[in-house]
Amino acid sequence: GATIGILGGGQLGRMLSVAASRLGLRCHVYEPGEAPPAGHVADAVTTAPYEDTAALEAFAASVDVITYEFENIPTAALDTLQALCPIRPGREALRVSQDRLTEKTFLTDLGLKTAPFADITDAESLTQALEIIGTPSILKTRRFGYDGKGQARINTPEEAAAAIEEMRGAPAILEGFVEFSCEISVIAARSADGAVACFDPGENIHSEGILRTTTVPARLSQAQRTDAVLLAAKILNALNYVGVMGVELFVTPQGLLVNEIAPRVHNSGHWTQNGCTIDQFEQHIRAVANWPLGDGSRFADVQMENLIGDDLDKLPELATEADTAIHLYGKDAVKAGRKMGHVNRIIRG
Ligand code: ATP
Ligand code: MG
Ligand code: MG
Repeated sequence: GATIGILGGGQLGRMLSVAASRLGLRCHVYEPGEAPPAGHVADAVTTAPYEDTAALEAFAASVDVITYEFENIPTAALDTLQALCPIRPGREALRVSQDRLTEKTFLTDLGLKTAPFADITDAESLTQALEIIGTPSILKTRRFGYDGKGQARINTPEEAAAAIEEMRGAPAILEGFVEFSCEISVIAARSADGAVACFDPGENIHSEGILRTTTVPARLSQAQRTDAVLLAAKILNALNYVGVMGVELFVTPQGLLVNEIAPRVHNSGHWTQNGCTIDQFEQHIRAVANWPLGDGSRFADVQMENLIGDDLDKLPELATEADTAIHLYGKDAVKAGRKMGHVNRIIRG
C-alpha cells in the first residue's frame, strides 16, 4: 500500500491519519511541535522544523504523496519537498490562500463576490481605505491569521490608529463588515481526474472569532444551495485542485460572498464523520491517493459542537448523551481557546 505524507500533526492530521489507515494506507506525519495529536495514530512521525532540509528530504523520500493539514508551510520547505514528491493539493492553492489579499484578488478575478477590501500598508493607506469602505470594518493581517487572531474591528474612524497598532507592522487588508444573515461553508472535493463533489453546506456559528457549531442542513433556499456548490466547484476547477477544500461564505440579501478558502479539510466539515458514509477526511485521502471520490451524500441532520478549552469538563455528561458521537484529539494541555475535541449530535425530527 501507499504511504501518505502529512505536513502538520494537529487534530486534522490525526483524523486524516485515521481515515488513511482505514483504507489500508500508511501515514507519515511531519510536525515541528512536540507531542502532536496525530502522533498517536500515524505510522511514523518526524519531529523537525521546516528549516531542516535533511529531515524534509528524508520525509519526502519515505512517502508516495504529500498533503497537509494547514496552509502556512514555508515556501522554501515546499520547494525542497516538491523536488522529490508530488504535493496535493498543489502549490497554487497554497499560494493563493496563504495571503488574504492574494486570496480575495483571486476570488474577485474569478467573478465571485467578497466583502469590499483594500491593501493596507500604513496609517495613511488605512485612512484612505476607510473613506471608501467606511465603518464598521475589520482590519486583518494578510498572513498567518486563524480563529479570528490578527483581526481588529474598526467601528468608527477614530479607532483606526488602535487597529493599525494591533497589526504590529504586519501587512494587512481592510474588509468592509458584512451584515450577513448567516454564515455557511461548503466542503468540496476534487479528484485527480477532475470530478467534483460537495458535501451539503453547513451553517456556522462563531463566537470571538472561533467556530462553535456547524449545523446541517443550513437554512438555505434551494437556489442558494445550488449557488454555493457551483461557486465552490468553480474555485476548485480554477486551481486544478486535488483534495478537500473548505469554502466559507456569508449569506446576504445580495447573494453569497466568499469569506475565505482553506486548502484542506476544515473544522466546519467535521459533521460529515457522523452524517455521511464517506466523511471529509476519507474524501481527502481518496483524492490525494488517486482513488475515485466516495459518496458524501448526507443521511442525517447533524450539529457539530467544538469542545474548546474548559468545555472538556462537560465530558462526563456528554458521554451519557444519546445520539452524540464524541471525538477527542488527545491533547494533554487544556488552554483557553484551544480546540480539544468536538461532538456530533444527530438531530432527529
Ligand atoms: P478561521 O479560523 O476560520 O481560519 P480566520 O481567523 O481566518 O478564521 P475569518 O474567517 O476571516 O478569520 O473571520 C472569523 C469570523 O469573523 C468569520 O467567520 C465571521 O464570523 C467574522 N468576520 C470575518 N470577516 C468579516 C467581515 N468582513 N464581515 C463580517 N464578519 C466577518
Ligand atoms: Mg482563516
Ligand atoms: Mg474563517
